[in-house]
Amino acid sequence: MSANSQQIMDKGKKYVMNTYGRLPMAIVKGQGSILWDAEGNQYLDFVGGLAVTSLGHCPEQVTAAIKEQSEKLLHCSNLYWIEPQVDLAQLLVENSCMNKVFFANSGAEANEGAIKLARKYAKEHFDPEKYEIITLDKSFHGRTLATLTATGQEKFHQGFEPLPVGFKYAPLNDLQALESLISDKTCAVMLEPIQGEGGVNVATKEYLTGVKKLCQQHDALLIFDEVQVGLGRTGTMFAYEHFDVEPDIMTLAKALAGGVPMSALLAKDPVAAAFKPGDHATTFGGNPLAAAAGIAAVNALLEDGVLENGAKVGEYMEAKLKQLAADFSIIEEVRGKGMIWGIQLSCSGQEIVTACQEKGLLINCAAGNVLRLLPALNISKSVVDEAVNIMYQVLLEKFN
Ligand SMILES: *Cc1c(COP(=O)(O)O)cnc(C)c1O
Repeated sequence: MSANSQQIMDKGKKYVMNTYGRLPMAIVKGQGSILWDAEGNQYLDFVGGLAVTSLGHCPEQVTAAIKEQSEKLLHCSNLYWIEPQVDLAQLLVENSCMNKVFFANSGAEANEGAIKLARKYAKEHFDPEKYEIITLDKSFHGRTLATLTATGQEKFHQGFEPLPVGFKYAPLNDLQALESLISDKTCAVMLEPIQGEGGVNVATKEYLTGVKKLCQQHDALLIFDEVQVGLGRTGTMFAYEHFDVEPDIMTLAKALAGGVPMSALLAKDPVAAAFKPGDHATTFGGNPLAAAAGIAAVNALLEDGVLENGAKVGEYMEAKLKQLAADFSIIEEVRGKGMIWGIQLSCSGQEIVTACQEKGLLINCAAGNVLRLLPALNISKSVVDEAVNIMYQVLLEKFN
């Protein structure tokens, strides 16, 4: 007999470090947009593995590629050329504005690499004192020491001081604030075109155009952290396409390999050339298994009308959510693009998250009061209806 949620949770509390405030349920199976817990209860998944499962759970193309590769070669080493890794790099380069790729295993790791690359490039081309990186308030870039420092939210810093030096923070969409911080000591400005964890805050086109200009004036690189919003999440392959602003460095992770841990640091020439043999490495990065999954996932995103569906159903979802906002005054604002939406409440969102879960809908709360929706990109309008109906019921019961 398999374990139930309570048994799995009890064992977890005994053996797993207590770093997540987990819901009291264990998920054991997934298919498309449906998840099942250990009791066999079914949930509609609008958390989407936090923007990882953009093709839904266990997409056939990805599981088939994993099966095939797993019988050929799981791992060798980056001491040798790895064909799936090279092919995935080509796929990403040919479909973006970037020229070279370095593969890693998590979003934080890709961002850590971006920070190193920006510093290295500035030291090589300009001045050893040009090492400052400006990031934005409410940003999220990861949990390693450098990336949590890059994260413009104090709650992530507390308890881990002393922090690495060289990071400054500016508010989103405030060009003057950035102008007052940027200087010849700035090696890069790093930002999410749409902030995910910080509450789905969307940069304006005017702002990003201005940031790019300021970067050029100060010989600073522009880094886009597209770990969450890249790879189709916003309705285009990359979020930068919405803004007509090309970064010099871009990071990807979450959806890259359809559920297998993998990330990528991409850069334009000649920035990429600042990394020489020995400058940066990771044992697992771009290993054959992850790369095979990545090729399958990226091809599935590119080939099967998935992006177009995400854009179309995303617009439908926007209209439905704005209708919800019109019906309930507790909703202050609805923000997002494509398949990333935030519903800002005038109160904490956790109770609503729990109430939705009890009715069979999984959503997540960011920044304390923003319900965040990150469904698969290939869902139909009727799945959106189902999710919005559950939220409607929950809001009706709680606030009317
Ligand atoms: C999730 C996320 C990260 C961190 O990725 P991990 O894989 O958890 O290290 C970094 N940046 C953004 C924008 C993210 O959403």
